[in-house]
Amino acid sequence: MHTPDGFTPSHALPTALGDDAFAFAFRGDRVLTVAAADDTHAFPSLAALTHAGIAGVPHFLGLLGGVGCVALNLADDVAEPTGMRFVGLRTLFFKVPEPLLALAARAFQVVDWDRTHRYCGRCGTPTRDRAAERAKECPACGLVAYPRVSPAMMALVTRGHDLLLARAHRFAPGMYSALAGFVEPGETIEDCVRREVREEVGVEVGQITYFASQPWAFPHSLMIAYTAEYAGGDLKVDDAEIAEARWFPADALPHLPPSVSIARRLIEATAARLRGN
Ligand SMILES: [Zn+2]
Repeated sequence: MHTPDGFTPSHALPTALGDDAFAFAFRGDRVLTVAAADDTHAFPSLAALTHAGIAGVPHFLGLLGGVGCVALNLADDVAEPTGMRFVGLRTLFFKVPEPLLALAARAFQVVDWDRTHRYCGRCGTPTRDRAAERAKECPACGLVAYPRVSPAMMALVTRGHDLLLARAHRFAPGMYSALAGFVEPGETIEDCVRREVREEVGVEVGQITYFASQPWAFPHSLMIAYTAEYAGGDLKVDDAEIAEARWFPADALPHLPPSVSIARRLIEATAARLRGN
């Protein structure tokens, strides 16, 4: 999940969109696709949706290789057109090309923002879209609301050749991952790494090293991943959040999150580095 190569983002809906424009049309949290017999999916063109009588609130996303991409917020009672299906975004991993899945995820965040910012959060007046940027503005009091992005950190704590992995209560049986948590007001990401590791498993960390980041549209987080060197303390798990935390040797890892997650990349890349040391 990242900005696809060849994609030029823009919020300004062009006066004319080609018939081939991609439409990412959401009813609730499900997106409209055309499924092939082999269970690969394609996103319909805007023209195909118009032909099927489907219309919604449009938000322009930009151009992918010169082709327009539009997010559509559909009403909750829109019926599935013949030959199309509403499907969950998470079920589309590996069933649509990754660039289009990334744009669908981007579209969902814009649609979700459109739905949840129809009224001013301060005075309750209906908002309107700003022309100059992707923002909603209250005509009465001037409050401006941008699409929400919530930064969260992920920390993989290392100690020699060992990795600290934990199980949240909601995880599938046997699956372990790195620690994660949302950034609080006033914190740097690095502050958040130290606090979350301390709160969740009771240990202190020293050197913190940036790994990568990943937008995650479920519903609007930006996960920023780090490795963190163990500096002291005994494992003491916060039962409210964590079911179990353990040190694993880099060459004997447990069941990990799916390969589409930044957690998997973080753990595998770090384990490979530690095995090579
Ligand atoms: Zn207002």
